Amino acid sequence: MQIVAPAPSKQTKQGFHYCVISHTHWDREWYQPFELFRLRLVDLIDHVLEILAASPDYRFHLDAQTIVLEDYLQIRTERRGELAAYIKAGRLLVGPWYVHNDFFLTSGEATIRNLLMGSAIAREFGHCSRVGYVPDQFGLISQLPQILNGFGINNCIFGRGYQRYAPDETGALKSVDTDNEFIWNGEDGSSVLTIHMSAWYNNAQRFPVQPSQALKYLSLVENRIKARSRTPYLLLMNGVDHLEAQEDLLPILDSINQQFNGNGSRIFQTTLDEYVAMVSADLEGQTLDQHLGELRQGADFSILQGTLSSRGYLKRENVKAQTLLENCLEPLYAMLCLMSGEASYPADILHYLWKQLIQNHPHDSICGCSCDPVHAHMEDRFRAIQECGSDLLRRGLGEIVQRLDRSQLNPDAYLLLLCNTLKSTRTGAVSATLNLPAEDATERIELMDACGRVIPFEIIKCEPRLISLTSPINLPGQIQVDSVTIRFLPEPLEGLSWRHYIVQPCRKGGSPIRQKPVRRIRQSEAVMIENDALRVEVQAQGRVDLFDKRTGFWSRDLLQLEDEADLGHSYNFMRDPAGKPTAISDFPCKISLQEATPLSQSVRIVYRAKLNDCYEARQRRRSRRTQPNRIELNLTLTQGMPWLEIAGEVENRSRDHRLRLLIQTDIKTEISQSSSPFDLITRNRSEIQEGIRHDASQPTSGLICVRDQTRSLAIFTEGLYEYEHLLNERHALGVTLLRATGTIHHDALGLNGNINAQLEPPAEWLAPDNQCLRRMSFRLGLLPGNAEDAEFLNIFDLQQQFVTPVLKHFDAVDGHKFLGGRPFVQDSDVDGIFFRDLPAEHCNLPLTARPVRILGDGVVLSAIKQAEQGEGWVIRIHNPWPETRTAEIQFTGMIHQAALLRLDEQEIRALPLHEGCVNLQMQPRQVMTIGFR
Ligand SMILES: [Zn+2]
Repeated sequence: MQIVAPAPSKQTKQGFHYCVISHTHWDREWYQPFELFRLRLVDLIDHVLEILAASPDYRFHLDAQTIVLEDYLQIRTERRGELAAYIKAGRLLVGPWYVHNDFFLTSGEATIRNLLMGSAIAREFGHCSRVGYVPDQFGLISQLPQILNGFGINNCIFGRGYQRYAPDETGALKSVDTDNEFIWNGEDGSSVLTIHMSAWYNNAQRFPVQPSQALKYLSLVENRIKARSRTPYLLLMNGVDHLEAQEDLLPILDSINQQFNGNGSRIFQTTLDEYVAMVSADLEGQTLDQHLGELRQGADFSILQGTLSSRGYLKRENVKAQTLLENCLEPLYAMLCLMSGEASYPADILHYLWKQLIQNHPHDSICGCSCDPVHAHMEDRFRAIQECGSDLLRRGLGEIVQRLDRSQLNPDAYLLLLCNTLKSTRTGAVSATLNLPAEDATERIELMDACGRVIPFEIIKCEPRLISLTSPINLPGQIQVDSVTIRFLPEPLEGLSWRHYIVQPCRKGGSPIRQKPVRRIRQSEAVMIENDALRVEVQAQGRVDLFDKRTGFWSRDLLQLEDEADLGHSYNFMRDPAGKPTAISDFPCKISLQEATPLSQSVRIVYRAKLNDCYEARQRRRSRRTQPNRIELNLTLTQGMPWLEIAGEVENRSRDHRLRLLIQTDIKTEISQSSSPFDLITRNRSEIQEGIRHDASQPTSGLICVRDQTRSLAIFTEGLYEYEHLLNERHALGVTLLRATGTIHHDALGLNGNINAQLEPPAEWLAPDNQCLRRMSFRLGLLPGNAEDAEFLNIFDLQQQFVTPVLKHFDAVDGHKFLGGRPFVQDSDVDGIFFRDLPAEHCNLPLTARPVRILGDGVVLSAIKQAEQGEGWVIRIHNPWPETRTAEIQFTGMIHQAALLRLDEQEIRALPLHEGCVNLQMQPRQVMTIGFR
């Protein structure tokens, strides 16, 4: 049965329309693990199905997510038909999301995939809600209006990030009441009618049964929201986290309607879609407040920004998994299939991997604010993604080599494939491991490019090893190899291209593989490393000076590690009001030159820092006991790479603290910019409202930059999401490396009025693993430049290069060399190995190829993949800059049609295609999806 929305009634214009939304907010895993919550979900949906059967007018929202359907049906497989019937009839509301992901800690591409997946599942069940419902996320990104519009959604209903504060007559900051309804604009011109649930998504959590009580309850609810509502349609959210549906709601609403006694008001159960339609119609012609940009206003505990750094190890794994899918696997297979019509795109496996990954993206999961078992399961999911994804990558690269035209190649030579799956040209030395079968007793090798030019290389190491040989038709075997790791400086590798190098064993000439490699040089005095762009000097006490050869500028004493107590919890950092930070440089350090070759130079600094064991809440001070914490920094300069890499590790043995790397920029500006999905956000360090925001940290999705009239500094991070532009004289950027606390939430300081402040929170809210007593690794890149630098426009490309490896694959020209395995009759003289060779006519790929070019300064590639429906290809690019930019996409062959698509891949209009090439004009901040066939 289709429910028709109650038409707004003119007679009731004087009264209110109380729009009751029955719902649950479903955190799939949080202070209890998934399986415990799932048992409750099964109860909840069983109960809803009972109500829907008994009460033909009842409607219920499953929190705009579709993953709950899968979770339920894994247990109640037989009830799929019932669910689908209610969804189709508009009585059980699902979608458009798969999960409620955190938008700051997951990539823009992941948010789009989440919507694609959620909408597709909802449609399979019969109906997808068209409301941009994001109730609980800890702030909203600036590009959400554009993302929602890209799915044909013109509205947004949310809970957090819109609480403003302004000084009153005494100068004290007071919260300002804003309208619940406003227009939220994206900088590209997108906009959504937005409704702020200022009294939260439980403002009508459960109505009392007794009629007079119910009316009294309603008047309380009304008083909390009516002053901020611009329409007589008041949104009453009947439900909250994990609560089951209120079965007696409809008779209670009837009894309230009777008590209204014709005063013009009415109360009714409705859906979010109908509610948005009623509000939009009522607001027609009215001028509403406008908001531009991200929504992350409010006090610390409102936007929970300490979740940017809780359990940093999860964030880093997430970036690695996103990079594997977005920047490696999808482009690699797209390139392979575009060059070879015979290869197949592993759409189903990639869909499976995306699904696994997005299951780690709910706000309570990726934010690191759940109980320990939840995060242990997440680590396992990340591991599974890496296991499957790395092998898919190996197979894809192997297939390129397998499908090569080898007719001109020397049969005893080897092939080294380099593949650049990013949009931009890559420079810089690369290293690769060559496994040469020991039985060949190779002594010398030569490295040549496809034109036969000899390429010089360095030997990093050479060691005997056993490697496994696997094949689908032979038992696994193993062979001994001389495993030689080399490094060389290839010609710049163009975007979305591959190039093969030939490794030729030789008797004379070439280089001996067993030559003495350039090894570590231990040193404890000052150490200097350099490449073509930068020089780094490390003084005996660990002081780091950086010289930029292009600008001639010395950054003296550039890096400091700083540790301080954290009295907070997984949601928020809380500074010790009586404490002060500990400088790690106060502890002794060891400095050693790790490597110094013409192509790569690296220095290691190791501190043994005795840090306080924990924070003692009862004594209100850091413990007097200390723990030894080994902190290692490796600074590396690689020839041809413009940045200084800082990779390191903390063996964390202390609790309740925060460790940051301060980068002293000496760039005199109040403004920093940081990346956010599809955007670069400008942030002013002076605008943090003290007293409202105790922690002045800000989000970044991997790029932070500061500039003044003469210089710029960009910082790339891999999974470090939290930084602060400090109000110190040297204008430091502080990047959080580690934040360790032991509870999901607590009120040990009584800040939230907890009368039991001296007691620990209940067991479920303890999260000892949140102390991160493990090896925590981190990686950053520092790129100094001058302010006029045209290269600055390509900073996003460089950040992608920083997190994405050049892909490599080594194989023999003789395709049987590493296939083999064990003979088919073991322990006998009857032996033999089976091979399944590709027909020669399918081996036609060239040694170098560039199947598609994407050109355009400042334009960033987000995705290149097969279309969701399977026919054709999709490329998504975005312009994170405030001015119009142009882009050009050119295919080498096989493309006949191009079209501009919405994010959900619905066609907007055909695009002119000239000889496989489309030219595009991109509006500021625009995300553009183009389909090709
Ligand atoms: Zn939630």
